[in-house]
Amino acid sequence: MKRTAGIIAVIAVVLLVGTLVFINQKFAVQPGGNGAAGTPDGGIIKVVAAENFYGNIAAQLGGDKVSVRNIISNPDVDPHEYESSVQDGIAIADANIVLDNGLQYDTWMDKLIAASPSVDRAVITAGDIAPDVLSNNPHVWYGVNNMMAVARAITDALVKADPADAALFQNNLSIFNDSLAPIIAKMGGIKAAYAGTPVGLTETIYLYQTGPMGLNVLTPLSFERAIAEGNDPSAQDVNIANQQIANKQVKVFIYNSQTVTPITTNLQDAAVANGIPVVPVTETMPAGDTYQSWMMDELNALETALAGHH
Ligand SMILES: [Zn+2]
Repeated sequence: MKRTAGIIAVIAVVLLVGTLVFINQKFAVQPGGNGAAGTPDGGIIKVVAAENFYGNIAAQLGGDKVSVRNIISNPDVDPHEYESSVQDGIAIADANIVLDNGLQYDTWMDKLIAASPSVDRAVITAGDIAPDVLSNNPHVWYGVNNMMAVARAITDALVKADPADAALFQNNLSIFNDSLAPIIAKMGGIKAAYAGTPVGLTETIYLYQTGPMGLNVLTPLSFERAIAEGNDPSAQDVNIANQQIANKQVKVFIYNSQTVTPITTNLQDAAVANGIPVVPVTETMPAGDTYQSWMMDELNALETALAGHH
């Protein structure tokens, strides 16, 4: 028994020394917090995303080299109306990369970023780099081209924070871009089959998809904007939207289930009562989804609804 204990002790010492040598080598390769490029301690890059769809893409691009904190993930929270917390501010002060949307969508982020200045931190604002921005419409993440531009900017920031892993990050970017192809193909298929179909829409968010697919949104734009901005639509606009449903002019009703008012709920109920298929869409990514699966689920639901009315 004594001899066994002795062997175990020797093994323990060997393992301990081995671990210390390994840790030493790891830090020799990745110099930690004092690195010139701002490489964070232990090589983990801290990302804070205002909304979870940006955080999801950062996680896909950074893999196990990043830790991601999303400020808005809860599908019951309307990002248009969000009030930030002290914890949000602390996370942003400590972050290496901060992702927000801009375009007046998450103005609370501007305040948090300004409140904790940092020379090393990269701030990526999607609305500033998106190639396709619709007028008075901050929902740029619903545009696939826009997300490709955001992904490229995130990759650049990752490479700058951790140059040793540049090849990995570039490869992840290729994988991400390739993964958008089925979404682009699905939109092309819907366009080919259903372009020109009249649809209703409660909020501006889905114009980034209805436009490229050539769907004919009948709901007044001023109605959609009022709902997005938390204002009351005019009585005239509400009447028009109601008539379009009562007269079954719209074949599908696309409903933002995360930016809801009694007016949008009434329209949804009326659509159901009139046998018009309702397609829910959300501001932020549902739990358990990726950006890609979220977009694809909504497109599949839309395609099914359009097929039922053709
Ligand atoms: Zn919105």
